[in-house]
Amino acid sequence: MTASFKKVGTDFMTDDLTPSPSSDATAATFATRAIHVGQQPDPTTGAVIPPIYLTSTFQQDEVGNLRAGYEYSRCGNPTRDSLSSVLADLEHGEHAFIYPSGLAAIDNVLRIVLHPGDTIVSGVDVYGGTHRLIDQVWAAWGIHHVTVDTTDLDATRTILENTHPKLVWIETPSNPLLNITDLTAIAELTHAAGALLAIDNTFATPALQRPIEFGTDIVVHSTTKYLSGHSDIIGGAVVLADDSLLEPFAFVQNAAGSVGAPFDSWLSRRSVKTLTVRVERHSANAQLVAEALVGHPAVAQVLYPGLPDHPGHRIAQRQMSAFGGVVSLVLRGPESTAKTFSESTELFTLAESLGGVESLIEYPYGMTHAATADTDLAVPKTLVRLSVGIESVDDILADLTQALERAQR
Ligand SMILES: *Cc1c(COP(=O)(O)O)cnc(C)c1O
Repeated sequence: MTASFKKVGTDFMTDDLTPSPSSDATAATFATRAIHVGQQPDPTTGAVIPPIYLTSTFQQDEVGNLRAGYEYSRCGNPTRDSLSSVLADLEHGEHAFIYPSGLAAIDNVLRIVLHPGDTIVSGVDVYGGTHRLIDQVWAAWGIHHVTVDTTDLDATRTILENTHPKLVWIETPSNPLLNITDLTAIAELTHAAGALLAIDNTFATPALQRPIEFGTDIVVHSTTKYLSGHSDIIGGAVVLADDSLLEPFAFVQNAAGSVGAPFDSWLSRRSVKTLTVRVERHSANAQLVAEALVGHPAVAQVLYPGLPDHPGHRIAQRQMSAFGGVVSLVLRGPESTAKTFSESTELFTLAESLGGVESLIEYPYGMTHAATADTDLAVPKTLVRLSVGIESVDDILADLTQALERAQR
């Protein structure tokens, strides 16, 4: 099992620069670490970019004598380890595991932390696929699912006291309503109830928010989104705050076989190098879009935590360094207006997903969140979600404006 723990080429930076949580040095060195951790030039050839280890197995010099701790790529692969080492470092975790999708990562957390008869409490507006996985897959294995609005701390405390969960699962900012949960407060409540706290940090990324600094035990990512950032792979990651769950995660990943592929891991590792600048630009463009659309005659409400009157704005300012690239709009008029708007953009592509350099638009009620459409957790039928890309903001605004005009006709 040791192969799974192996970190490749992390001597540089991790020893010197792994800072204490919340220090200013942390933020100052983030961009440097995003580029260098796990990225030593290849010792054999000097190639500045390490090769992609497209191999299923590794030669052994004697039986059981492994060259660098690697024996078989399900147990461990250097390219996958390069990605896991940088994600663990950037999130200030102890270790990270890489999966073939965000949902595979989430599934591994559920199967490791929960046992038949246990309860999970999740936020009311977590990703629709997360909700479906808990409700429709894990329910059959005796997992009880309770939801609560985690922006309401009193309600959350009551639920936790009454249901004694093993795991609390939230997103902040949430998808697609961009609600903000107080990370410090939710960690305190969760631990007081004897549970573990898992945060899906896909929307913020460690560039903007590092939940482990606020007491989170498990951080989850769909690396499909901002971490990879170019809409070209599906992937997931789990980052553990400490080593208490290291053994079960390593064991289950190897035993159940849910591993990220080397090529996908390589693309993601490469993309993380530009995470800092991409997320800065995504956030700047999204802030301008949100401000420009407040008061637009076709728009009833702009949901964006960077707006001063967003109910979670002050908390977001405390726990995030910027507010991310997703903006949701509640449109005036019937649901057909929201649909027409989503179908009328020219620069924005109508597609699920988010976090890529190109702008995407989608209609959550009928697309990403269709799994909750018939439940009391359904998102509004007049809601449209924008993943604001890093194109010129003038082009972005012009496209949204013309599409809103078409939708209003
Ligand atoms: C996309 C997404 C997921 C699921 O990840 P996949 O890579 O599509 O499996 C989970 N959580 C959030 C917040 C997401 O946006």
